[in-house]
Amino acid sequence: MPAAKALEYPFSDPPAAGTAREVAPGMYWLRMPLPFALDHINLWLLEDGEEWVIVDCGIASDATRTAWEQLFAGILHGKRVNRVVVTHHHPDHLGLAGWLVARTGAEFWITEGEYRTGRDAREARQHAIDDLLALFARNGLPSEHFAALSKRNSYRSHVDEIPASFRRMREGESLQIGGRGWRVIIGRGHAPEHAALACEESGVLISGDMLLPRISTNVGVWPNDPEGNPLADFLNSLQKFRQLGADTLVLPSHGLPFRGAHARVADLEAHHALKFAALEAACATGGPRTASEVLEVLFQRRLDAQQLFFAMGEAIAHLHYLHRAGRLARDVGADRVIRYAAAQPAPVSV
Ligand SMILES: [Zn+2]
Repeated sequence: MPAAKALEYPFSDPPAAGTAREVAPGMYWLRMPLPFALDHINLWLLEDGEEWVIVDCGIASDATRTAWEQLFAGILHGKRVNRVVVTHHHPDHLGLAGWLVARTGAEFWITEGEYRTGRDAREARQHAIDDLLALFARNGLPSEHFAALSKRNSYRSHVDEIPASFRRMREGESLQIGGRGWRVIIGRGHAPEHAALACEESGVLISGDMLLPRISTNVGVWPNDPEGNPLADFLNSLQKFRQLGADTLVLPSHGLPFRGAHARVADLEAHHALKFAALEAACATGGPRTASEVLEVLFQRRLDAQQLFFAMGEAIAHLHYLHRAGRLARDVGADRVIRYAAAQPAPVSV
């Protein structure tokens, strides 16, 4: 597999929280803190004549609100915010949307899939944990891990009340901002209907979490779609970024802005191809394996409770992909646990 061309990073250090850095004419980079191992998110401010458009909001926390107040006293001072655009429903993107919309009177733009999923996730209570543990148990996770997983912070604690109405973004439509068109590119697999925004005239892509420079986007199976094949959806969605200009400036939600979208798509394909091959080999030689039993094939490190949650979702997603592609056989044992083994060769017809 040829090594992908290295990415170029035109900006070496991020703006401090509460400040903005221009990355292209009329486009500004914001950075907000996150209380996780992944400790930051990038947000974007787009000039729209004398007004502003905010893209993504940050998690609902006092630290993020404080940073926004600095921005309202600084670059946003005296200017109207006409739209708050959210790429997808995850708390670091949607968390403060309700607060920002109430504070500014802006319209709230999001896809329908992300709006509904966010509302559902915010309403879900204990049954969501029960469904999660049932999914993980069916995929072989020993019950000794359940107590730690049950203590995970809930979605609700990181997301303010979601606005009661929204303006719907759809695949291919163009948002007019600052006299330029920003085309909506729907991506699946990471979230149900994630919106990236491409301004081809400026050669800029706001990629959200669909295309990140250093970490591979989390793609997991979750209890609301327990038989889903999100890795197929994700790998298919990535192809859309190959249609963009090769020197597009990519503005990702985590890490630094970069050039090299096509190379990054190739990197991610190679990354998953390696994982697929390793899983096929493990299930073929080690006998039938559960998702829990292949965690060590995918992740060569100790996992804390939050990492275990994402790792289980990812392991199930890889196994579903291989099963649907005919590369692994799947069997449900008398214990109702799902195991994967080498696919039987197709019968030879004569
Ligand atoms: Zn996300």
